[in-house]
Amino acid sequence: MDEKKDLILNMPKKRVKTSYKNFPMVPRVVFGKGCFDQLGDILLPKRKNSEAPIIYLVDDVFENTSLVSRIPLLFNDKMVFISADEEPKTLQVDALVSMIKEEFQELPSGIVGIGGGTLLDLSKAVAILLTNVGSASKYQGWDLVSKPAIYHVGIPTISGTGAEVSRTTVLMGPSRKLGINSDYTPFDQVLLDPDLTKGVEKQQWFYTGMDCYIHCIESLNGTYINAFSQSYGEKALDLCKEVFLDSLSPSESRDKLMMASWHGGMSIAYSQVGVAHALSYGLSYVLGVKHGIGNCLVFQHLEEYYPEGVTLFRKMMNHHQIILPTGICSDLSEEEMNTMISVSLDMEPLWENALGPTWKTKVSRDKLKEIYLKI
Ligand code: NAD
Ligand code: ZN
Repeated sequence: MDEKKDLILNMPKKRVKTSYKNFPMVPRVVFGKGCFDQLGDILLPKRKNSEAPIIYLVDDVFENTSLVSRIPLLFNDKMVFISADEEPKTLQVDALVSMIKEEFQELPSGIVGIGGGTLLDLSKAVAILLTNVGSASKYQGWDLVSKPAIYHVGIPTISGTGAEVSRTTVLMGPSRKLGINSDYTPFDQVLLDPDLTKGVEKQQWFYTGMDCYIHCIESLNGTYINAFSQSYGEKALDLCKEVFLDSLSPSESRDKLMMASWHGGMSIAYSQVGVAHALSYGLSYVLGVKHGIGNCLVFQHLEEYYPEGVTLFRKMMNHHQIILPTGICSDLSEEEMNTMISVSLDMEPLWENALGPTWKTKVSRDKLKEIYLKI
């Protein structure tokens, strides 16, 4: 017996292997102009019974538009219009979940999110919180969700964030802005209908589109880069260049930006974003600046980190005569500025991806303040 024990103790230790991410992908996707009209057929086999509704969470920009009449309402299905003026909050998710639970005896058959990143993130979170107890804020972080979400479908109506493919749903909580990152977060089904993005106003088209462009630049220039991320990132970057610098037809441009968003999202899924996103999180936390425009405001001043990326960004801005607001941080109190810097520096993986494992020796609070004051 002792001999056996000795043998085990003296066995050479196993080499510790790198642990690679086992990343869940959206299992089903439809792409094509007008594919929105397939939604009814797609949902039919997912309906548990006539008492278990499909809940549609729809960006209120579509209220009183023809899109509403194309939503395949059946039985006691419910449509909820939600404003995307502010980024989604954990309290908003909690309120939606309570409303659904109070109104229906049964759990819904599914949640369908129709809109931009805001509505897509809200829909993912509601689907998770319908089966996991407590407030959404409890699940902000990594792999804290223990039960599968209910069936959820994402239908983007503006392109760029990659929220349609991602494993996260970014929420503003009581104490922090952080995603619910889990294997249960990605959509079960995505419908990519480029025609749905027709009504997007130009500035917003640029800001959300640049989110995708910045995902590519940060992923491709980061230390976490690998062949998986590179293959998606390069494709997305090429598509962005076509969309924002070439003269494509509107229809071609919508198609390509929708696919750029998808590929950009896939690229960061297996790497990470970088300096622009870290700084943009601070802006958003303290001033409520939205993700797309926040990234642009920051990125224009990051030539030190992404020289080629920033040059091209400026070219795209000029090409589309985009003028970014100024003086955003000029009236900040010392305390607000400090919070902004702390929130940004807390995004450790983003900094590590951008600047490597010794990133702490390469950035300082003063450096961040200097950048923020330029905005
Ligand atoms: P958004 O959803 O905030 O919408 C921006 C504006 O565009 C809104 O006013 C909205 O009403 C309008 N809009 C959307 N579709 C339209 C259409 N077809 N016609 C006219 N107007 C339309 O925009 P976004 O940039 O897609 O999303 C930003 C959000 O996404 C942020 O909350 C951010 O945190 C989140 N995000 C999530 C991820 C993720 O992986 N989960 C990644 C990046 C960003
Ligand atoms: Zn982003």
